Amino acid sequence: MREISTLEVTKAIKDLCLQANRVLRPDVLEAIRASLGFEVSPTGKEIMEQIIKNAGLAVSEQLPICQDTGYVGVFIELGQDVLLKGDLTLAINEGVKEAYDEGYLRKSMVACPIFERENTGDNTPAFITVDTVPGDKIKITVIPKGGGTENASRLQMLPVSGGVEAVKEFVLEAAEGAAKSCPPVIVGVGIGASFDKVGLLAKKALLRSIADSNPDPELAALENELLVRINKLGIGPAGLGGRITALAVKIEAAPTHIACLPAAVTFNCHAARQAEAII
Ligand code: SF4
Repeated sequence: MREISTLEVTKAIKDLCLQANRVLRPDVLEAIRASLGFEVSPTGKEIMEQIIKNAGLAVSEQLPICQDTGYVGVFIELGQDVLLKGDLTLAINEGVKEAYDEGYLRKSMVACPIFERENTGDNTPAFITVDTVPGDKIKITVIPKGGGTENASRLQMLPVSGGVEAVKEFVLEAAEGAAKSCPPVIVGVGIGASFDKVGLLAKKALLRSIADSNPDPELAALENELLVRINKLGIGPAGLGGRITALAVKIEAAPTHIACLPAAVTFNCHAARQAEAII
């Protein structure tokens, strides 16, 4: 067994929160640059140029890419040969608190979702997903996510008889809401599993690189088809019209019950924030 102090986790989370909020995902920046030439709308082009300029300023001035610095999603791949010394959840939340304090990042979490809605004051709690994997390391991925894209997310238990066409229709309907989530977006789609797991599949889909394709050829073809169809909706950069609404569609699928076809759609806005480290 390899002993790892949760103090190391706290430091990693703090650094990753600051990095993710200030440095646009390099593959997303590259995809925005690459698609600029395909945008026909002058307004759309101008917006994409502003997004690129904004990303540069965020790095040079060490400022957040967007004022909505999000809630903090944390994905942990915990090696089975790791012996953690300390409380993992406390360590992660401490890292979030330190980053949002020291980086002057907006604290957006409210304790009670329906009545008082008072701010927790330190942007905790983080939303943590832990998967155990072979090995003696911890991989930490941090994705701060703003309210705009979160509110555009959709989850539905589709009729099994609807099949792939029902999935396509559901994703395209959800994509109509992308206008409110600062496009160009990345579309994450979860298909299968259960009611509670399908949203997580969609979120995990967002973690994939823009350039990759689903290893399953049928799902890869579906990703490509949906990308083309979403970009024909005319939503465009910032929702002001144009060709470039989405940079990529990523699908994650999992086994499900014989009577079920769960589907979920979520988005990363142009301020796609993600950073990872291995301890
Ligand atoms: S959707 Fe993204 S870019 Fe738009 S306000 Fe929210 S975090 Fe910022």
